[in-house]
Amino acid sequence: MNTTHQHHSIVIVGGGAAGAGMAHRLMEQLKTPDVAVIEPSEVHYYQPMWTLVGAGIVAKESTRKRMSDLLPREVNWIRDRVVGVDPDQQQVETASGQKIGYDWLIVAAGLKLDWGKVDGLSKDLIGQHGICSNYSYDTVQHTWEMIRNFEGGTAIFTMPPMPIKCPGAPQKIAYLAEDYFRRKGIRDRCTVKYVSTTPGIFGVKKYADALMNRVIKPRNIETRFKHNLVALRPEAKEAVFENLETGETVVEKYDLIHLTPPQSPPDFINGSPLANEAGWLEVDQHTLQHSRYPNVFGLGDCVGTPNSKTAAAVRAQAPVVVRNLARAMRGESLTAKYDGYGSCPLVTGYGRTILAEFIYGGKVRETFPFDQGKERLSMYLLKRYILPWVYWSGLVRGRQWPAPMPRDFGSGHGPV
Ligand SMILES: Cc1cc2nc3c(=O)[nH]c(=O)nc-3n(C[C@H](O)[C@H](O)[C@H](O)COP(=O)(O)OP(=O)(O)OC[C@H]3O[C@@H](n4cnc5c(N)ncnc54)[C@H](O)[C@@H]3O)c2cc1C
Repeated sequence: MNTTHQHHSIVIVGGGAAGAGMAHRLMEQLKTPDVAVIEPSEVHYYQPMWTLVGAGIVAKESTRKRMSDLLPREVNWIRDRVVGVDPDQQQVETASGQKIGYDWLIVAAGLKLDWGKVDGLSKDLIGQHGICSNYSYDTVQHTWEMIRNFEGGTAIFTMPPMPIKCPGAPQKIAYLAEDYFRRKGIRDRCTVKYVSTTPGIFGVKKYADALMNRVIKPRNIETRFKHNLVALRPEAKEAVFENLETGETVVEKYDLIHLTPPQSPPDFINGSPLANEAGWLEVDQHTLQHSRYPNVFGLGDCVGTPNSKTAAAVRAQAPVVVRNLARAMRGESLTAKYDGYGSCPLVTGYGRTILAEFIYGGKVRETFPFDQGKERLSMYLLKRYILPWVYWSGLVRGRQWPAPMPRDFGSGHGPV
């Protein structure tokens, strides 16, 4: 086993939406940067586009880029996976046995898909027995195959316990499938059901009302709330749900089921001194500095803050982390504050989107000067064409906007 020891001034764990952008920002801002990114994957994925891949709108190959083309060339890219962290010794340990010391640590490791938490489910079942999922690059193509070949019957779309990444994604694919069945002329032979652990369709009332009144009821999509998928019987095509209020078991037959897997904090955080009670990275929800280890910051899906886990949240968090880290390095008090911004382009059909934007406390914080609670073609075109550009040329390049802008430009808000 390789047990080399290295030390870097700043170590970033993860080269995803959060980590790649942070690496660029730090390389640009610091005079003599000594930044290492620990990231095992050769490929970086633009996950928000998987909703449209599952609906047959874009090819899945367009959602990936080589990590080597994305990370700054001057950064020390350590192709390894973090398996442990010792914040008292200021070091992380990797799968290959390396111990990497740091002065400052930025944790941006995303989250873990926990397929096995559903009894009878494993990732290799996706693509068989009417089971599909948009939640990973390897499975997303099956969603479109199954929706396209559906000839009628019951299609179920599930939502696991929160928190998950992009809490809107489990319902977006239900709306797209329903729209596709309608366009194909088979809608009257289809039952479309959305089954969720949450008490309602969306956490922000304005958008919940819009979705119920303008989308779900008129289009006869059945909903069942406070129900958790606990088991799957693939051969019998049965899904077993637990009623979270009564504890009763409900068995539903299906012909197609789109699963959103249960999601958990990364193992190396969960149970470490950096974790909160639920296992997520414990940072102050405004400064994004760790609550007990001031030389640790975090952003993205791995943090335990009560915002919606989205790339849009990362876009608002990244400038806060950079500014606060720079101040902390100079021994100054932290002044930048993240307000909980998150965004969810709720694609409600082919050519229609409600753009939800909100901050902590479920307060609406919209970008455009019109009612974003309405389904709009313009917001669909934003999702389809503009946001990928904002992501690839802006967010993951460490820029707030695709073209370079003055450093302190803007609040950091905006969907991705
Ligand atoms: C189907 C779907 C639809 C979505 N739709 C939207 C949307 O419309 N809008 C939106 O804003 N967001 C959306 N999202 C959410 C968005 O993709 C995530 O919130 C965003 O990618 C979070 O960035 P991150 O860097 O925290 O995590 P990721 O981008 O997942 O990156 C985490 C990185 O950490 C690496 N890593 C993991 N474990 C370790 C380890 N132990 N050591 C080192 N590296 C590690 C991984 O390899 C990965 O590269 C969607 C997600 C999905 C799945």
